[in-house]
Parts: sequence; structure tokens; C-alpha cells
Amino acid sequence: MTKYVYSFGNGKADGNTTMKNLLGGKGANLAEMTSLDIPVPPGCTITTEVCNYYYENQLSFPDVLNSQVLEALKNIENIIGKNFGDANDPLLLSVRSGARQSMPGMMETVLNLGLTSKTLPGLIAKSGNERFAYDAYRRLIMMYADVVMEKAEGQSPAGGEGIRHLLEKILDQFKKEKNYQSDVDLSASDWKVLSEKFKETIKSELGSEFPDDPMAQLWGGIKAVFKSWNGRRAINYRRIEGIPEAWGTAVNVQAMVFGNLGDSSATGVAFTRNPATGENVFFGEWLRNAQGEDVVAGIRTPNPLNDIAGSDGVQASESLQSAFPKAYTALIDIRGNLEQHYREMQDIEFTIQDERLWMLQTRTGKRNGHAAIKIAVDMVHENLIDKEEALLRVAPSQLDELLHPMVDPKEELKTAPLAKGLPAGPGGGSGQIVFTADAAEEQAAEGKKVILVREETSPEDVHGMHAAVAILTAKGGMTSHAALVARGWGKCCIVGCGALQIDLNKKQLAVGNKVLKEGDWVTLNGTAGKVYEGQLALLDSDPETHNEYAELMQWADATRRLKVRTNADRPEDASRARSYGAQGIGLCRTEHMFFDPQRILAIRKMILADTEEVRRSAVMELLPYQKKDFKGILQAMHDLPVTIRLLDPPLHEFMPQSDDQIDELAAELGITSEEIQTRIANLHEYNPMLGHRGCRLGIAYPEITEMQARAILEAAAELTKEGLTVLPEIMIPLVAAPAEFQNQEIIVRQLAKQVMEEQKITFDYLVGTMIELPRACLVADEIAKSAEFFSFGTNDLTQTTYGFSRDDIGGFLPVYLEQKILPQDPFQSLDVSGVGQLVALAVKKGRAVKRDLKIGICGEHGGDPASIEFFHNTDLNYVSCSPFRVPVARLAAAQAEIKSKN
Ligand code: ADP
Ligand code: MG
Ligand code: MG
Repeated sequence: MTKYVYSFGNGKADGNTTMKNLLGGKGANLAEMTSLDIPVPPGCTITTEVCNYYYENQLSFPDVLNSQVLEALKNIENIIGKNFGDANDPLLLSVRSGARQSMPGMMETVLNLGLTSKTLPGLIAKSGNERFAYDAYRRLIMMYADVVMEKAEGQSPAGGEGIRHLLEKILDQFKKEKNYQSDVDLSASDWKVLSEKFKETIKSELGSEFPDDPMAQLWGGIKAVFKSWNGRRAINYRRIEGIPEAWGTAVNVQAMVFGNLGDSSATGVAFTRNPATGENVFFGEWLRNAQGEDVVAGIRTPNPLNDIAGSDGVQASESLQSAFPKAYTALIDIRGNLEQHYREMQDIEFTIQDERLWMLQTRTGKRNGHAAIKIAVDMVHENLIDKEEALLRVAPSQLDELLHPMVDPKEELKTAPLAKGLPAGPGGGSGQIVFTADAAEEQAAEGKKVILVREETSPEDVHGMHAAVAILTAKGGMTSHAALVARGWGKCCIVGCGALQIDLNKKQLAVGNKVLKEGDWVTLNGTAGKVYEGQLALLDSDPETHNEYAELMQWADATRRLKVRTNADRPEDASRARSYGAQGIGLCRTEHMFFDPQRILAIRKMILADTEEVRRSAVMELLPYQKKDFKGILQAMHDLPVTIRLLDPPLHEFMPQSDDQIDELAAELGITSEEIQTRIANLHEYNPMLGHRGCRLGIAYPEITEMQARAILEAAAELTKEGLTVLPEIMIPLVAAPAEFQNQEIIVRQLAKQVMEEQKITFDYLVGTMIELPRACLVADEIAKSAEFFSFGTNDLTQTTYGFSRDDIGGFLPVYLEQKILPQDPFQSLDVSGVGQLVALAVKKGRAVKRDLKIGICGEHGGDPASIEFFHNTDLNYVSCSPFRVPVARLAAAQAEIKSKN
């Protein structure tokens, strides 16, 4: 018989942390904590297999499930010493979702199941706390109506306000009438009146009664959690995070413990280290006399866990450390225990019932890039993990955050902040404010930079949060939904900015007398929690100032085999990339150098020339410019190789477009505009990407190759004389036939001989080719006989292998991705199974002829971690990417090495 239900409690558990696929993350870790003798309320986990069964069998359960659940329930009852549905002393249960990978707030939880008209008096009598019992009851009613009766039944009104909002409105109205400030002010009889009102509203709104039977409630809850796996929010989240539908969710049924039993009870959430900075300090928030998601939902602004965390808090408030010293000490022990055990920063949930601490959850804590690096490096120093593990723990994309902009501190000094909140996601963000997630998504799609401003965020807002450059909320703490989600994405975010008065109807926010409307600009400093009116300048940040970053990258460099170069056309870019760790230039495009007004004239003259003589003299006008450019770049990259590609794009790209420009050119050249028009018409091509470009230019007009080769080689000669070591690598583009390469190679080598003789100096240089056409891959062995290096141009290689024009892919790619015809954009992540075969073939053929042929890749894919893993495994010598991606590629290359070794 298949085991569908796994029990945990009283130090014993059927499952453990390795069983996340079957038990979900939450269930696996509840089991693990139980086995570690950490106090966890007893419970059981219904496996993810049941979720899949449920969807595959018209929303029904396996026959044996009922008896397995009842058996597990018996176990819980025995441990707690109370029975579910007992009128005198009822056991209450929570039903909680838990997928393999945590999906914060995406799925449902129902608390206090088992409260009915029969058991309520028992709970009152046993707890001696009528207010508590009615508070628990009304929470059950609210959650149950929302989760089980409405959402799970697919009854949620589209766009409109659901039952939860309705009930909350009734609550707000009630508080207003009674002049209450907060939920804490409501008495037992208030909650009693309200729960009756709630039940009536549910009946009239949803057309059915809130069930008054414990078992009906339990199964209603279980089904609702399974159904929440296919709720709109969960589906959206899975799409963004790439979580497969087939994983399913588990359901955890667990005995309730109560943080809302009075002033000696509390609930909270914590991180074993600071998730925003990575500092090794216990960090968290809590609320007295509260239950469930009160802390996360931002209903009341929570208190800091300890006095350290409180030092920069906006509200000065009491810490758990001083309010519950005993429970706090127990929590500190558990923190140490969990970190030692998991060797990883944990995100935990706890509840204190009558001074006694209970753990409700632990999972790997989400953190931003800064924190990820610091924690990984610190843990190596603490002997918790080794260097390889540390390298694997930082996602290459997280390094991006260190390169993210920050608000210019000079401008900040001059500007008074509009408001201050909690620094939930570091970095700077500047954008136009919007007040709904939909508006954020729409306006971002129009190309605007938007900042999403909300009272607090909920899982319904994730699409807008994703689209926004930054997020700002009025309520909530550092562990609120907004903070959690922003941290996961490394997004700038400020929460708990209490001074904001948001008016959704008027689409405006006010701080004191200052009013900002939708579309007004604000700038956030998410590192300091400061909000500024207007658009402050953002600065690039410098990763080298982050100590742990430098250390981690040293480890990466010592580990990786793949070298990392950069694509750069200008000395400034080359220097920046070098400071980011680039080991040379993998692609220096020469065409960008031609657009300067002086040079464009010369190149246009060259294109318009009708005799070789005229053309040659026009081309030679470009020589001094090109030489100067190459000197700058070679100098910036001295001691490192610099691959320079000869002219590649179709010539018409250099011709004037407008009539004015044509007339101007005609006047300069002393010819008629018509002559120019005719020449432009002659240059027209139906498929310019497959037209007269690449080495086809240098073959038809050898003087272009001569000039470029001379410029490069003279630059190298002069720098060598100055005492620098320079390593130019001249790259012939778009070769399909070996003879094309040989044709150009002869020109380059002859010039090299000449230049060395003229300058009376020798230096090293290479001549190689870009492999970017399928045919070049197929005949790579022939090409390798003369070429000294290969560099894969994976953009063109992808275009020509698929027959997709990269510039026109926008028309159908979205459809392809949506219908899963392609798993991803092949221009972003290399198509390993198709294009990858050509790459592997060319490597094999090339190296069969020249064993140590130097091979790199200089397409867009050089900065993509998944592609980098492939290039590593294919034995390339280097990848080349844009300067900002260099650190990402260094780490990805180290990870590829570690993964292939293990
Ligand atoms: P999520 O996955 O959204 O974090 P959880 O299943 O952790 O959802 O439940 C949400 C909250 O409900 C938790 O933070 C916890 O405070 C509360 N909760 C869940 N189960 C129990 C329980 N058995 N006793 C007390 N509180 C509980
Ligand atoms: Mg939840
Ligand atoms: Mg939780």
C-alpha cells in the first residue's frame, strides 16, 4: 500500500529534510526539526503524490487516504492529549500548503480548524479566555470563507472584492463605530457579534453555510490547499520562477499552538542572519498576542527580535529579548542548532504560547546578492562549508546586484528625503509612481520606469512587483511579503514607510501636505530606506568595495578553467572590464569606430568610389583614426590578448538615410545627390544579414582589409617600441569556405611582414576566424589548417542554424515560448541540443587538426550561466561577454568546473 501520509511529533518523524520532493519543503523540514528534538507541534504531511493523483483523477483522492489521515490524526491526538471535535477540550488543527520549493504566500493556509458551535464552549472553558476563543473562531471563519469556500471553488469575483475584503470591511466599520484603534481593542463579545455577522454574510454572499462539522472543515481545508496549487497566483508565480506544474504541493496538517492566547503569547518570524546585509546577527520580528500571518501581512507593524535589530528600526519598540527572555534564549539555541545542522541561513516561523516556544517552520532563507556573498564567505570562515560549496551558493545573477546602480550620495546630501521606511531591498531605483500592480505592468510594458506604491503587497501583486523598478509600501516590516519578494529578485524596495498616506481612488499619495500623483517621479534608496521626491541621479556601484565579493571571486578564479574575456570597442570599456576581472578582449568590433563625423565621410567616400584607386585613397584616410583606436584598446589591455574583428556589417549601414544628409554628402564630395541615391539603391539587399558582409567585403575590397590590418599592426608595433607587451588577434568574420579565410589571411600576413620590416621590430600576433555559419562548423578541420584561433559568433550561428532573423524574432518568439515550442529564447541561452552540436563538432574537428587550437565564444551567450556551463563542458578556452557580465561569467565558469568534477 502506498504511504500517502507521513507523521511527525514528539521527537519522531517518518520523513526528513531530504524528502522535499515528496513532502514539500515545509513538511520535510517539520519532520527534520522534530527529529532534532526541536519543539514542533505534532502533525502529518500528505504527499505531493496525492496532489498529482487529485488532478489526474477528476479531483478525487486515493481510497486509502482517508484511513491514513485518520490514523495520523490519532497520533496527533495521543501526543497532545486532546481529541479533534471534542466538545469539552477540542484539538484544533492548521492545514498548510508546502511545495518542493517555497512559494511565499502563493498558496493557502487555514488555521483553527475544528472550531464549531459544539467545540467553541469547550475551548472557552479550557482556556478560560473567551476573547481568545472568539478571536480564533472569527479567524477560522474569515480564512475558511476566503480560501475554501471562495478561492478553491473558483468563486473569486474577477477584479472585484472577494469575501475576505467584505468581512474585513465589516470589521473596519465595526471598529469605527466603537472607536477602536486596533484589533487588540475588540472584546470577546465584540468578536462574538462579528463572527455571527460574518457567518450571515458568507451565507448571503456565497450561498452556502460555513460548515459546523470538524471533519467537513478538515477535508474542506485539505482540498482547498490542493486546489490552490492551480490558483491564478500560484500559476503566475510558477511561470516567473520556472517551477514545473508537475511538482505539486504537499499538505501539512498540524496541531495548533496559539500566539493569541493573551499577553504571555506571541508569534514571529526570523532569519538566522540578516537577509539584507548577510551580517551574522539574528534578525526578526514579532507581535504580542497575535496569530498566523499577522506579522507577514503587515496588519500591525511588528517589533524587533532583539536590541541589535532594533537600533535602526523606525519604531522604537520592545524586543522579544526583553519581553520574553526565556523564549528568546530558547530561540537562540534553536538558531545555532539549525545553522549547524543545515549549514545554511534559515528563515524560521515561531509561536510562543504561554511563554513556551514552538517552531512552525524552517527553510533556506531568501537573501539578496550582497547577503548571499557575505553569508557564503562567512560560512567558509566559520568552517560550516567549504569553498566549493560557497561558490555554488551564490547564483551568478546575484552578482548583478553588486553592479546595480545606487543613488548618487552627493545628490542625497543636497536633498531632504520625503519619507523614511525600512530598507528591505538595497540599491537605488528611480521611477514614476503607480498604485496598482496592473498599472505597473501596463506602464512598464510601455517602456516606463515605474515604482509600485502599495499600502502593503500581497501575492496578488507579484506581476506588478516584477514589472516595477522598485517597490514602496506604507505598512509591513522587513519580513513582510513585499520585502521577501523584492529580496528574492534583488529589487530595490522600501517597506513600512508609515508617513505615506495612500489614496487609491484619487491615485495619489500624501506625506504631510505634499501630494504626489500617479506618474510623478520618486527615487528610492533601498539601502538606507529613504524616499526622495523627483529623479535623483543613480551611480554605478563598485563591487570591489565589497570585501567578501573579492574573496569569493578569488576562489572562483582559482577554481575555474574557462577564461573570461570581454567584448569592448572602447578603451574605457576595456579598462572597466579589466577591473571586473576580464582576461582580454574576445571581440572588438571595428565598425562602431566609423560613425564619428570625420570618419563617416571617409567611409562614405570609400563606398561611393567607382575605381579601386579612389577607393584606396578614401580607405587610407581612415588609417590614422583606426590606428589611434587600436592603440587605445591594445594599451588598455596590455599583456592580455585582444581579438579585433575586421569590418563586418553590410555597407549600406554606413550610408546616409535622409534627403538632407544625402544632399550634404553630395555637396562635400562634389557629386550630385542622384549619384548617391543610385549608389544607395545599388547597395540595397533583400537579405542584408545574408548579403555582402563579413569577409565578403574584404575579399571584394581587399584595400579595406589592408587598411585595417595595417592600423592594428602599426599600433602594435608602436606600443611594442614603447615597451608594452601587446597581443593582437586579427579575426576574419563570417567565413564559410576555407578559401575565404586563406584569401584574407594572406593579406594580413603580408602586411605584418611589411610593418615589421618598416618598423624594424617584431611582435606576436595571431590570425583566426569567427565561426558563425553552420558550414564553417562542418569544415572546421579545413579552416583550422591555417586559422590560429576560432571564436564562435553564436548570435549569427543561432540565426543561421535556425534560419531565424534575430531582428525579426519578436513577431513569433512570444507565441513560441507560450506554446512551449521553444523552451527559451535561443539568442539568450544557447540552444545546446541544436546549435550546441555544431559548436561541439567544430571544436572536435578543429582540435583534430591543431591540438591546442585556441577556441572562444564571443556571442551574447558568453554571459549566460547555462550557456557557460555548456562551453566549459565543450572544452572552450574562454568566453567573452559585456563588461558588466564579466563577474557573472567568472562565477558561472567556476560553478561549471565544480559541477563537472562532482
Ligand atoms: P506560508 O507558507 O504562507 O508561510 P504557513 O503554512 O507557514 O504559510 O502558515 C502561515 C502562518 O500560519 C504561519 O506563519 C504560522 O504563524 C501560522 N500557523 C501555521 N500552522 C500553525 C500552527 N499549527 N499553530 C499556530 N500557527 C500556525
Ligand atoms: Mg500562506
Ligand atoms: Mg510559513
